Amino acid sequence: MRGGGHNVAGIALCDDGLVVDLSPMRAVLVDPVTRTARVQGGALWGDVDHETQAHGLATTGGIVSHTGVGGLTPGGGIGWLMRRHGLAVDNLLAADVVTAEGSIVRASTYEHPDLFWALRGGGGNFGVVTSFQFALHPVGPTVTAGPVFWAADDTADVLRFYRDFVADAADELGTVVKFGTVPPLPVIPEELHWRPAIAVGCCYAGGVEAGERALRDLRAFGSPLIDLISPMPYADHQRSIDDTVPHGWHYYWKATNLDGLSDEVIDAVAGHGYAARSPRSYAGMFHFGGAVARVPRGATAFGGREAPHAVVIDGVWLPDESDELGAAETAWVRAFLDALEPHPAAGVYVNFLDADEGTVRVREAYGDQNHRRLAEVKAKCDPDNAFHVNQNIPPA
Ligand SMILES: Cc1cc2nc3c(=O)[nH]c(=O)nc-3n(C[C@H](O)[C@H](O)[C@H](O)COP(=O)(O)OP(=O)(O)OC[C@H]3O[C@@H](n4cnc5c(N)ncnc54)[C@H](O)[C@@H]3O)c2cc1C
Repeated sequence: MRGGGHNVAGIALCDDGLVVDLSPMRAVLVDPVTRTARVQGGALWGDVDHETQAHGLATTGGIVSHTGVGGLTPGGGIGWLMRRHGLAVDNLLAADVVTAEGSIVRASTYEHPDLFWALRGGGGNFGVVTSFQFALHPVGPTVTAGPVFWAADDTADVLRFYRDFVADAADELGTVVKFGTVPPLPVIPEELHWRPAIAVGCCYAGGVEAGERALRDLRAFGSPLIDLISPMPYADHQRSIDDTVPHGWHYYWKATNLDGLSDEVIDAVAGHGYAARSPRSYAGMFHFGGAVARVPRGATAFGGREAPHAVVIDGVWLPDESDELGAAETAWVRAFLDALEPHPAAGVYVNFLDADEGTVRVREAYGDQNHRRLAEVKAKCDPDNAFHVNQNIPPA
């Protein structure tokens, strides 16, 4: 299945198999009265934000607008709004699904509840979702959002500050920390482009002034290279890093959840975060908690709700750059992950797994209990494992 989205593992395509191209199915239908949206299976998050924000509404989606609803949602769906409004799957009310045997069924709490449970975290294992129905919430349209950058040398100090800053942050505050370089975006002065830097990206899903108050201490910390936080349309914020991770570049990534930001973790991040050769390589650290952690682990198939942070380490190089650089970036990703591995929290986000992970890592993503139940649902819905070009859950 491919929805025209963005999948690093390259598992949307296959040889000697069937590829279902959903990219023409991008319609988004908003009902502002019930605050719900029906979203076709090939839509991108930019499509969803565009239609929902016309009504001052939104639901949790990814932080890059050219990723697809179709792949991101069934894996869980993490983004700026999740601490306030839950994961994408926590906002999923129903899904229309083409099953392995070719039936069209509606999955919700009331219809095919096992399939509905599995679709909320189990990835592309259970069928082709032709339409998602999401709950929407008032968001913006203007929010206080953007990143603050500090020099890479300040990483340990910034992370120690950040550890305390997010410990009692309001649910409205979503943050993602990026370790890498200052991107060469037009809004950033040229002399800063490609400078090694730590950035804390923010989005306050509440009133603009409350957001400014909530972010005051962060912005005042140390000596930022540049502070780009300002009131801005939520939909613009959702597009703001699109150009740093376009389609067509080469990517290799690894991920882990972290049990916290101990001094050892901070040292590991400061030691490895800037050791990539390609200035486009980066690591991103999402902050969970809030509404994500309040949903019981077994309520959906998504694993790792209790983890405070999820890290993804992304080696990035250009198609015309050498294989040798690609090998160096791949080695950097693996070494960085190894350095974090003594500090894992339960689970790893299944949508951040690459193509070379294997079944043990997929099981770890869900935890034994959720994985067992997923395998049982798979045995009912797809006993021959027709949908297996994915982070596969074999039927059992
Ligand atoms: C630049 C970038 C940023 C990202 N940011 C985030 C983020 O902020 N939050 C987050 O949660 N994840 C994020 N991800 C990870 C993302 O969730 C996965 O890469 C996901 O697989 C992307 O799905 P897609 O629809 O874009 O890709 P596609 O290649 O279209 O699909 C990937 C797979 O998803 C399944 N799938 C796709 N459509 C359907 C459907 N209609 N029904 C059933 N299964 C389907 C299939 O198994 C398919 O092979 C990001 C990825 C990238 C590359």
